[in-house]
Amino acid sequence: MPRTGVAHDSKQSANVVADSSAEAITVNDKRLAAVRLFARISFGSHWLVPDKPRPSQCTGPKGYQVVAEDVSCWLVILLTASMLIGGAAAAEREIPPVSTRTVVYHPLETICPETINRDLKGTVPTVDIAIYLGETEGDPHGYVTAPDELVQSFQRAKKIFADAGVQLRLLWVKRAVVHASWLAVQANDVTGSAAPPEINAYVGFRSARWKLTAEATNVFGSIIEPHSENHRTIYLLYLKQVRMAYYDRTVKDRPQMKSIPTGGLSLPAYLFETRIPRRIRGVITLCQQRGNGGRTIAHELGHKLINVSHEYRQISPQFEVRGEGGLMLYGGGTEIPAGQAGRWHQERLHLSPFLYQTKEDGTRQWNADYRQGGHYYDPLYADKVIRFGVMKLPQPRKHNIPPGK
Ligand SMILES: [Zn+2]
Repeated sequence: MPRTGVAHDSKQSANVVADSSAEAITVNDKRLAAVRLFARISFGSHWLVPDKPRPSQCTGPKGYQVVAEDVSCWLVILLTASMLIGGAAAAEREIPPVSTRTVVYHPLETICPETINRDLKGTVPTVDIAIYLGETEGDPHGYVTAPDELVQSFQRAKKIFADAGVQLRLLWVKRAVVHASWLAVQANDVTGSAAPPEINAYVGFRSARWKLTAEATNVFGSIIEPHSENHRTIYLLYLKQVRMAYYDRTVKDRPQMKSIPTGGLSLPAYLFETRIPRRIRGVITLCQQRGNGGRTIAHELGHKLINVSHEYRQISPQFEVRGEGGLMLYGGGTEIPAGQAGRWHQERLHLSPFLYQTKEDGTRQWNADYRQGGHYYDPLYADKVIRFGVMKLPQPRKHNIPPGK
């Protein structure tokens, strides 16, 4: 069993669409390029203008509403038409390597955030959460016809965190219509080295140097709409398949790089530190519709907000460890324990930079940010850390050094 102790749930079958989508990417490149060029010409710099959050007003359906926030509907229709027509291959030379935003948003009117949020209190530490349902044109996400399932899952996660003194505030649920290739992505590269198994897992993570792929950076960064509080907002991004690369240390002294599909992937600071763009550091991908009745949402939020791997009380971080009781194990547990015996989970949660309280004048008092990129031992956590195992990586061997030097 691998012992890398990372933040994912791999309950989903590997029998999904990643490999078969490769051809579609090639075939549709020219069409996508045409759309991108069209977007550049039509929207100028408007598509990156930050905007304030727009919680759903829960009114009637608005149809296609947003491409880059401030674009009127007829442009959206033209955009969609260009995507269908394709062409303009000669323009590809002018297309920047990272795509511009070609996402069409529909608010999911059947879910009303105001109703879900009505029990929130200003004095209680709060996390803002926005949800995007990734889908392709003409193929709505499964939650569109089963919104109650999503609401129930969110409510369950909300209850789990309420028991630990933190409230979850839903900003919106939007459908994000994207190119089919965006729904299946390789999330990360592992660019560092594998640490020996006896090394403290969190020290080992630092040497593995997880990094978001260019593909994932583009997809996540394009779907998540720009806003001044992006870096302190959680985004639950529902896609079809997200693969995670990691060091498999099953065979001692022979670590192997592997990549597996994930049901949920939290992309937390203890793995990525500053190697994930700050604007989208709150992203969590989900690929299961039901997700264990909301426990999966809560578990992935735990990785992000508590900033720990799979661990609980006496159980040190491991890649897959099943057990009952703790939210951060595989199982049915929901406890976010406090104190040193609880591995400081509750205290770490309350220190998360994603939390704020609302003051009497309506402004927000945000928690302090990470001081060293958010690794497990970041000074932000002071003594709310557990030291175990071998805390230092072995020094690289030096060759041909004469004795006495
Ligand atoms: Zn996990």
